[in-house]
Amino acid sequence: MHCFVCNGKLKPFFEKEFNGQCELTCVEYVRCESCHLALSKTHFEMSDRAWETLNRTYHEQYQGKDSFDDDPRWMSRLQAQSETISRLAKADVLSQSLPWVDYACGDGKLADMLAQSDIRVSKFERFMPPHGSGYVTAEEMLKEYDVVINTSVFEHLRDLETLDEIAGLVGKNGALALHVMVKEEIPADPTWSYLLPVHCVFYSNRSMQVLFDRWNFDSCIYHVPSRMWFMFRQDHPGLREFAEREASAGSEDFHFKEGFVDYWK
Ligand SMILES: [Zn+2]
Repeated sequence: MHCFVCNGKLKPFFEKEFNGQCELTCVEYVRCESCHLALSKTHFEMSDRAWETLNRTYHEQYQGKDSFDDDPRWMSRLQAQSETISRLAKADVLSQSLPWVDYACGDGKLADMLAQSDIRVSKFERFMPPHGSGYVTAEEMLKEYDVVINTSVFEHLRDLETLDEIAGLVGKNGALALHVMVKEEIPADPTWSYLLPVHCVFYSNRSMQVLFDRWNFDSCIYHVPSRMWFMFRQDHPGLREFAEREASAGSEDFHFKEGFVDYWK
C-alpha cells in the first residue's frame, strides 16, 4: 500500500484503541515518508459496506441538530463560513456566472445559510438522507461550477478518484471553497481530538500542495476564522487586492498566496 496522494512509501505511525466505539477496536495509522500524509490502514482496508455503515451510524448522531459534542465549534464555524463566502461573492472574488454546489453537503445547513444572503447553492449528497429542499442528484450535477464548496469531507475519503471528482467540478474561472484540517505535521498522538471514528486521512501541508498542483490550481486565499481555503484556477486581479485591502484595514484573517497557503505550521 502506497500513499494515494504522492505514491510515497507508507510507514507505521501509531495506534489508537477505540474500545468498541462505532465497532472499532485497535486502529492502525501509517504515514507517508514523502509528503507526510497520515491515514488509517484499518479504515482503508474496510469493505465499502462497512465504511458506509460506520459513516452513517456516526453522522446520524447530529444530522439536523444544531450541536454535536465531537465538534463544539460546528455552528459558529458554519456561521463564519457563510459570512466569509458571502463577502467574497459580494467583492467579486468568487464568481457567480456559473452555478455553485455544496458537494457532500450533509443536511445542507451551509447552503441554507447562504440562501439567506441570496446566494443559491445546489446541494449534493450521496450518502445521507436529504434535509429540506435544493438537492440535486448525481444525474443532475453539472460538469462545471464557479464555486464548489466542500466542508469536513476530505477526512472521510479513501480514494483519489473522489478527490479528483470534486476538484474537477471547478470551472476555469472557479474556486474550490474547502474546509479540512491541514497541518505541517500530523501528531503521532492517540489522544489527539481529531482522531474520530470516521476520520481516515489527515493532510499535511506538503500533501495538500501536491493535490493543489495536481488539480492545476493557481492561487489561494486562506481565511483563518472560518478555517477555509479558497483555491482558484486562475489568479485574477481581485484576489491579491482583496487580501491586501483586508490587511491594510488591520485584519489578519485573510492570507493570499500563489500556491497552497500553508498557514498552520
Ligand atoms: Zn505521500
